[in-house]
Amino acid sequence: MKTLSISKSIPVVGEYDVVVCGGGPAGFIAAVAAAREGARTALVEQYGFLGGMATAGLVAPISVFTYKGELVAGGLPWEFVHRLESMGGALIEKPLGNVAFDPELYKLCAQRMALEAGVDLYLHSYLTGCRQEENSITHVFIENKNGTEALSGSVFVDATGDADLAHFAGVPMQPRDGAPLQPASTYFILSGVDTDSPLIREAMHHNKQGENCHCLPVRERLMELPDMPDFGGPWFCTVLHEGSVAVNMTRTRTDACENRDFTAAECRLREDVFRMARILKENFPEFRNSYVSAVAPQAGVRETRRILGVHTVTGEEYVSAFHYEDSIARGAHPIDIHAAKGSSQSLTFLEKPAYVPYRALIATDFPNLVVAGRCLSADRRAFASLRVQASCMATGQAAGLAAAQTVKGNGDIRKADIPALISRLHSLGVWI
Ligand SMILES: Cc1cc2nc3c(=O)[nH]c(=O)nc-3n(C[C@H](O)[C@H](O)[C@H](O)COP(=O)(O)OP(=O)(O)OC[C@H]3O[C@@H](n4cnc5c(N)ncnc54)[C@H](O)[C@@H]3O)c2cc1C
Repeated sequence: MKTLSISKSIPVVGEYDVVVCGGGPAGFIAAVAAAREGARTALVEQYGFLGGMATAGLVAPISVFTYKGELVAGGLPWEFVHRLESMGGALIEKPLGNVAFDPELYKLCAQRMALEAGVDLYLHSYLTGCRQEENSITHVFIENKNGTEALSGSVFVDATGDADLAHFAGVPMQPRDGAPLQPASTYFILSGVDTDSPLIREAMHHNKQGENCHCLPVRERLMELPDMPDFGGPWFCTVLHEGSVAVNMTRTRTDACENRDFTAAECRLREDVFRMARILKENFPEFRNSYVSAVAPQAGVRETRRILGVHTVTGEEYVSAFHYEDSIARGAHPIDIHAAKGSSQSLTFLEKPAYVPYRALIATDFPNLVVAGRCLSADRRAFASLRVQASCMATGQAAGLAAAQTVKGNGDIRKADIPALISRLHSLGVWI
């Protein structure tokens, strides 16, 4: 391949204590957490709104805040959900603690919380690289309509889902071992659905502990149809508006960190959205008058890069609810692995809520980088539970607090004062 070399001067447009990259569930919570501790905080996001997979991917519901009624993701994430509920934008499904939501109100609520906390938002800004002095990151580079800009920071939080910043900084990643990544799925919203029918009423509320919330009668019928493309579920989730449901059923194998591969996947999945909408309309009376009222702006990505952290959470630790001295978050979603090809899914329900150690958010040789959300250090099994939004938000909260404390403290995120971090988490209502 031919290459070009360029050199250019880049304006440093902001100087911060904490720079959070990625405004998804983990990132916006991390930014609010850091800013509320008094850190000058920037949040960089490629889209014009916050929420990540929840809003750009229309991924619903937010899973899971409780285990058999016991709160496992308290503090800021729970505050966010209650605030969204007070705006008419969330429905907390008990006892499971799944939260159905209106994606537009989600964007508004997340943005309000960030701005009220004093976070500087850089929307429509794509993280493209970083400058380092040895392994310490001094600046991140962002691209937007102004051109290339740089933000300086003392501590950086990678909440891009795909570990983009860690990748640019040279952090080692979890080995893939040839195992296929979990597939991507494009969500869509169908309107004109008979949401009063018993089938849809039952299917669109994900409130049963210990059960797959897919719509089994529809799945069984779809499995009998000839020429059915690969599909998952299907799962239907209320978006809190009569006649409309979010649909999760398309599925394709892809690596979302390989641009051309992901481009092809987006196109395939868009075709499948309309194909599946037609199949539902033609085969089920509940969908007879339905139409696609929205397609997620981007395909939902379940799995890409994860850092090789100081500690990697293993499936064994996870299912045995191993408690670490530096536990900073919990997860209660089943270990949920979707087959890269075909329509199957492996679901292992937890006997107890699991724990995440702080060491899964940091890398050995990187003194001012902490990750949050989907790119944390976990093996494939533990990750298959931790990837859901409530646990991503919980790690975002811990990462944001640790970043702010590091700025006030010794400046090395690897030497965070764990008792102080845990004590602050407790004071916010996090029980770990
Ligand atoms: C099909 C599917 C179904 C799922 N089902 C559920 C479910 O039922 N319940 C549940 O809770 N979870 C579910 N999940 C998982 C969940 O949605 C995600 O794992 C979770 O949103 C991850 O949160 P995050 O903040 O780590 O990353 P993301 O939500 O991916 O957010 C990352 C953010 O960073 C931004 N970003 C990325 N790269 C850059 C860059 N270079 N520059 C600037 N910005 C960048 C993105 O735009 C995004 O806003 C599902 C996921 C998929 C794909």
